[in-house]
Amino acid sequence: LSRAASESHRGTAPRTVSVLGATGSIGSSTLDLLSRNRDAYQVEVLSAHSRVAALIKAAKIHRPAVAVIGRNDLYSELKDGLSGTGIEVVSGEDALIEAASRPVDITVGGIVGAAGLKPSLAAAKHSKVLALANKECLVCAGDLFNAELKKSGASLIPVDSEHSAIFQVLDANRPERIERLMLTASGGPFWQWSYADMEDVTPEQAVAHPKWSMGAKISVDSASMMNKGLEVIEAYHLFPVRPDQIEVVIHPQSVVHSMVEYCDGSVLAQMGNPDMRTPISLALAWPDRMPTPVKRLDFASLSDLSFAPPDLTRFPCLRLAGEALRNGGAFPTLLNAANEIAVQAFLDKTIGFLDIARVVEDCMSKGCAQILRTLDEVMEVDAEVRLSAQSVINCMKRTCVAMPQSVQQG
Ligand code: NAD
Ligand code: MG
Repeated sequence: LSRAASESHRGTAPRTVSVLGATGSIGSSTLDLLSRNRDAYQVEVLSAHSRVAALIKAAKIHRPAVAVIGRNDLYSELKDGLSGTGIEVVSGEDALIEAASRPVDITVGGIVGAAGLKPSLAAAKHSKVLALANKECLVCAGDLFNAELKKSGASLIPVDSEHSAIFQVLDANRPERIERLMLTASGGPFWQWSYADMEDVTPEQAVAHPKWSMGAKISVDSASMMNKGLEVIEAYHLFPVRPDQIEVVIHPQSVVHSMVEYCDGSVLAQMGNPDMRTPISLALAWPDRMPTPVKRLDFASLSDLSFAPPDLTRFPCLRLAGEALRNGGAFPTLLNAANEIAVQAFLDKTIGFLDIARVVEDCMSKGCAQILRTLDEVMEVDAEVRLSAQSVINCMKRTCVAMPQSVQQG
């Protein structure tokens, strides 16, 4: 099969690829696959926000037409670093959106957070395939994405491993035969911890994921299980199911990447070792597959694959995401914005780990189910909630400073 797949690439013109967020974890795995398949792909755009040295290095290897750095103050450094290469160098958010609008065969959306919304939406308009890892886009503006994809005719291929798994085993032609989607979750580093013990978790402990190597934000989201909550909302926008048909199952080994259950009781699962190069490669090669160096599963040594229900009391973020999906309207946008601000504050050691859910819950209690019809409306809610989350955090800080130590510990 692998030989047939690689042969089908031969003799055809290389496919053009833009990689948004090229210096991140998804971006680096994408570039690793592209460097193993040099004849099949030609890089059009590489973007990064602040890691200019890594962007220069990647651009020298992959020779894109354009290199984009998000931060304007790093423009000169990028320009100097790429002088004499013939690579166009641009900076800033508008330049990123413009670069993401270049017509290409595939755009890999590997930016983290709602910052990826506008560029990914531009790619949905102008790329043939949008290989989307940036789940926050679908969480805050899933309906807008689907409307845009319908208009442009572009295909959205999920890169998130659970959604890639479902994409591979779901029969989209017969949605009425699907009973449940089961998203597996490793449970993160604290899935067996008591709630009280999680109060003192440090950012270093939270980002040390037991199974996946990922960027800081998604690692914290995995530890709080907000990541699975965001993925439930992501699945709702990607697949033809109702919210009550999406379930979460804890599966610490991360071998079964997700499952679809049909009306006859059959459950189809996609499996593999946890390595993002598998789902990324599928999105790059789709509708074909490409060979990857991913370690193969050794079934003889897979003696214990375990499954358990999630605990919404110890992991309130998962409950809050479910509520946001069921409430609809602006709630998922709000949940995402509040979470992004709270996670950053946790990484900056301004608030504690369990405060992340407290900030999100506080913001959600002030939310409304108003339907967001335009990108401007989404951006407006996103900006308002960021301010509101920041003031909740400031309030927490003040209370913390004002409270005597004995009260805090009690
Ligand atoms: P990361 O932090 O490693 O990389 C993020 C990338 O986004 C970097 O290239 C950075 O330069 C860019 N970026 C950051 N802020 C930006 C801004 N304001 N404007 C433009 N670009 C900006 O993150 P990651 O782990 O690669 O995750 C990227 C996305 O993929 C996230 O949405 C995450 O949830 C999703 N995802 C990641 C994994 C994984 O294994 N890493 C798995 C599934 C889904
Ligand atoms: Mg995932």
